[in-house]
Amino acid sequence: MILVIFGPPGAGKGTQSRLIADKLKILHISTGDILRGATQRQTELGKKASSYMKAGELVPDELVREMILERIKKPDVSAGFILDGYPRNVNQAMELDRMLESLLKKIDLVVNIVISDEEIIRRLTGRRVCDLCGRVTHVEYEPQLDSDVCDVCGGELKTRTDDSLEAIKNRLKVYYSQTLPVLDYYRAKGIVRDANGRGEKNNIFSEIIGLIKE
Ligand code: AMP
Repeated sequence: MILVIFGPPGAGKGTQSRLIADKLKILHISTGDILRGATQRQTELGKKASSYMKAGELVPDELVREMILERIKKPDVSAGFILDGYPRNVNQAMELDRMLESLLKKIDLVVNIVISDEEIIRRLTGRRVCDLCGRVTHVEYEPQLDSDVCDVCGGELKTRTDDSLEAIKNRLKVYYSQTLPVLDYYRAKGIVRDANGRGEKNNIFSEIIGLIKE
């Protein structure tokens, strides 16, 4: 099964993708995670991507295209995968269709997570990520015993560099101008289902699983 999880930054795409991948035993492919890994390791890709990411801008299509193509050609994707954070504009969506076609595959479903701007800002400004285990917490929704330390592994909790208010506003602007048109592209193909992104993560997850099984 090939799924695309769609929605604005802060909609919970990463959290839901991890839950779905675990349940359906498919691979979770997050372009944001791959790019953050590359910037941490200071690879050529990471060096090229980092300034765009810090500003909340999209990394150039050709960099992301190579990265995705390499990933979806690996044998471990045979049971299927969920794409999180890709495609981010209509050109990427068309490129993805061409890539999948060449591999004799196609997208089964696009899950669109619906959430307000107000809630996005509240979630992203309060988000803290564990440096050690990658766990995502929130100062208000998932407070830790010590605000700077992960309750699970003791790692240091950090704010993503692109979770500054200025970068968040820019990410939203980029989302509405460049990413949202992708939804129309997929709606025209009749493969989109909408999920309510507000509320408790397990309830949202149940709704999404229901949509996938419909
Ligand atoms: P995310 O973790 O999905 O919010 O992505 C974090 C940042 O990585 C984005 O703000 C972009 O700078 C970059 N990025 C992630 N996915 C893509 C993509 N498909 N195309 C271009 N840039 C991307």
